[in-house]
Amino acid sequence: MSAALLDGKALAKRLNQELVRPRAALLPRPPGLAVVLVGEDPASKVYVGRKGEVAGRLGFHHRQITLPADTSEAALLAIVDSLNDDPAIDGVLVQLPLPKHIDATRVLDRVSPDKDVDGFHPENAGRLSQGRPRFVPCTPFGVMRLLDDVKIPLAGRRALVVGRSNIVGRPMAQLLEQANATVTLAHSRTAELPGLVRQAEIVVAAIGRAEHIQGDWIQDGAVVVDVGMNRLEDGRLVGDVAFDAAAERAAWITPVPGGVGPMTIAMLMQSTLLSAERRLTTT
Ligand code: NDP
Repeated sequence: MSAALLDGKALAKRLNQELVRPRAALLPRPPGLAVVLVGEDPASKVYVGRKGEVAGRLGFHHRQITLPADTSEAALLAIVDSLNDDPAIDGVLVQLPLPKHIDATRVLDRVSPDKDVDGFHPENAGRLSQGRPRFVPCTPFGVMRLLDDVKIPLAGRRALVVGRSNIVGRPMAQLLEQANATVTLAHSRTAELPGLVRQAEIVVAAIGRAEHIQGDWIQDGAVVVDVGMNRLEDGRLVGDVAFDAAAERAAWITPVPGGVGPMTIAMLMQSTLLSAERRLTTT
């Protein structure tokens, strides 16, 4: 392997301890984060558990609301309303995916844009697309912070984002474009993905398909950010990029796990802190 690792785990720890924790300690009350989990999805349980652990370690007020899979949409909306009105809560997060009988868009639209620390509300998505963000979706926010930490130049460089979801790929492409990269956004209908990857100086993979991007597609010296988290039948967790072969060619690469995942959580904590600071300095 010749690539250097973009060590999200180490950076997340540093940001949490050196930035978030000391600033949170200056507030008259701890930042408050509420996480709502509906159902029994095992991966969601793990993610929600991790968010709670980190929030607890940082001294945040953390509330996890766990609801049965058959919770009605109306009951979930009522809980979101009560969290929106709760003065101890600065960030409201509804863990995705939601059970099929619930309209996720309706639920996400109900989270107050001022507490929408995930940045999924259309008002916050619109603000981001205009380059005046309030809350930035945590995963692409974390990727930008990771690239910034090792001073990877973005202006004028060819960046390829693979995946166009509202929570990862689309805001990722917007942030890279706002950092003056020349961005291509690829998706399942894209023709000739290998050729696009070969041209890219920066590749962000957010597809959800194990090792879909092959190592020999990667340009020598490229920066490779792998957002994907795919559980194989043998239990291993792998990304969307074939790591070993890609690491032979890339200059920088994120590991899976230990790359983007911890940064996502660190950015959630930072957004919750910012939300608390805004709330506590304007009232
Ligand atoms: P979605 O399923 O919402 O989106 C996947 C995207 O990939 C879609 O835009 C889809 O295209 C595109 N896609 C699917 N197949 C292909 C293909 N063969 N070639 C090119 N593009 C393709 O996933 P998410 O954005 O929510 O998540 C993506 C991955 O990132 C998952 O593995 C998820 O687990 C992981 N993730 C990791 C996080 C972290 O903290 N590390 C946080 C969030 C997600 P189309 O739009 O045409 O369907």
